[in-house]
Amino acid sequence: MARRPLVAGNWKMNGLRASIGELEKIIAGARKLGNVDVMVCPPATLIAGFAAASRGTSVTIGGQDCHALAAGAHTGDISAEMLHDAGATAVIVGHSERRRGHGETDAAVRAKALAARRAGLTAVICLGEQRAERDAGRTRQVVGAQLDGSLPDDAEHVVVAYEPVWAIGTGLTPTPADVATMHGFIRERMCSRFGAMGNAVRILYGGSVKPANAEDLLRVANVDGALVGGASLDAAEFLAIAAVYR
Ligand code: PEP
Repeated sequence: MARRPLVAGNWKMNGLRASIGELEKIIAGARKLGNVDVMVCPPATLIAGFAAASRGTSVTIGGQDCHALAAGAHTGDISAEMLHDAGATAVIVGHSERRRGHGETDAAVRAKALAARRAGLTAVICLGEQRAERDAGRTRQVVGAQLDGSLPDDAEHVVVAYEPVWAIGTGLTPTPADVATMHGFIRERMCSRFGAMGNAVRILYGGSVKPANAEDLLRVANVDGALVGGASLDAAEFLAIAAVYR
C-alpha cells in the first residue's frame, strides 16, 4: 500500500510574526518536492497568519494541541474548531511534552483526537516510551498501551507519530533496526484493530531527525515521514529532511 509521506515541523514555543520569512522559504522549497506532504505547526499565535501565507501552496498548517471541547470556560485553551477557523488542517495531540508537562493521559489524548475529527482536522497522535521504560524492556508494552488508549475507534484522518521520548531534542536516535521494529509493531497493532484502514494510516518517526540522519531513519519500512522539532525551525534543514522523498 502506497502511503504518501508527510514531513511535519513542530515549532513548539518558538516563532514570532517575523518568522514568516522562514515559512516563505519552506513554501518555496516545498514547491520542488512533489512526492511529500509538508506541514508546519507553529505556535497558536501564528496559525492564522501562516495559514493565510500558505493558502494555495502545497504547505499545510497545523496546531500543536487542542482542548477536547469546542468552546467554554477554559482559560488559555484553544479548541480544534478555533484551529480550523484559523486555517489549520491538522493538530498534534499527545506530544510527550504535553503528556509529561501537562499530565495528559491516553484518555485525554483520545478525547483531543476525537475533537480534531469533529472539527475536520487530521490528528497527529504522538506515542513513545521514556528511557527508563526502554531500559526496562517495556517499550512495546508502553507504546502498545498508548496506541490502544489514545487512538479513536476510527482511524480515518489520523496520523501516528512514534517519538521515543529520550530521542526528542537530545541528538540521540534509535537505530534504523529499532525504528523498523517499533514501526512494524505499531503497524501490526493498527491492522489488527482497524483492518485495511490500519494499513493506510501514516506512521511518522520523530526524535532528533536531522538532515544527516534523515535518509537512514526515513527509508525504514513503515516509516511514512517525520515529525521534526528543532530542525524544523530552519527552512534549509527542514527542507533537506523532506528532500529524502524527492
Ligand atoms: C518533537 O518534539 O516532536 C521532536 C521530534 O523534536 P526534535 O526533532 O527536536 O527531537
